[in-house]
Amino acid sequence: MLKEDIIALKKSKNAVILAHYYQDSQIQDVADYVGDSLELSRIAAKVDADIIIFCGVNFMAETAKILAPSKKVLLPVKEAKCPMAMMVTAEKLKAYKLAHPDRIVICYVNSYADVKALSDVCVTSSNAEKIIKSYKNQKILYIPDKNLGLYLKDKYQLDIDVWPGFCCIHNNLRIEDVIQMKEKHPNALVLIHPESPLEVLKLADYVGSTKGIVDFATKSENKDFIIGTEEGILHPLKKLNPHKSFYLLNQGLTCFDMKLTRLEDVYTALLDETFEIIVPENIRIKAYESLKKMLEMS
Ligand code: SF4
Repeated sequence: MLKEDIIALKKSKNAVILAHYYQDSQIQDVADYVGDSLELSRIAAKVDADIIIFCGVNFMAETAKILAPSKKVLLPVKEAKCPMAMMVTAEKLKAYKLAHPDRIVICYVNSYADVKALSDVCVTSSNAEKIIKSYKNQKILYIPDKNLGLYLKDKYQLDIDVWPGFCCIHNNLRIEDVIQMKEKHPNALVLIHPESPLEVLKLADYVGSTKGIVDFATKSENKDFIIGTEEGILHPLKKLNPHKSFYLLNQGLTCFDMKLTRLEDVYTALLDETFEIIVPENIRIKAYESLKKMLEMS
């Protein structure tokens, strides 16, 4: 019933619902578009709608607002925040830049607008490898995810300084998790998100973004997969591959903030048009430049 109410209200207000792969399955099923940060950024920039309901965490809704300033962007749960994005502040980044003016600042999309505004280019886990590689002869600062930065530093021998931030979910993955799961499922391929520690990534059969993992598993002829990313991904994986089996790498792969959004919150957000994302225009313009560069380089 609630689902039908949401669909009717969405139509009457010319709204679209964007949902990240890590959202609850009920939210994914009511969304117009489900994707990872890169896909959702692209959609936000071009979608024909007056209102975007962003089911995810606040930096994602903020990114949508930066890319689509004329649209009203709403985050159904005000408290949904990514802990990693809070690990870098504009003040600390300004201080770093003063001390290291020769470093190109490459900023993971999991960050706030004022941090993006101080950066040279943004990346997501889908395009980080391609974009960072294109700066391989320069000195780089990568913020705020140390794990993705260390993974690419190791893979391409880059001169890259990494900010000490991390995702509280992926950073907990351990070598023992891979060993135990491989013992239980010896024929399974191990697919892991690059926000995980380097020593764990070195044991993976495939390292890639959430979308990359979905595509890899869908195209693969293998039948079993061990999944090292947030459990919300199991929903699209099972929908697309009903005859394949997926096992989470460990049982702690649930992002608390991503799971705050309920159907009731989506309905209320549509009805009352809460909670609107506002980005000051002087910051938005600068942050837009680093996101635009990312979209051009992807
Ligand atoms: S899964 Fe990790 S990076 Fe993604 S929103 Fe949650 S804490 Fe942030």
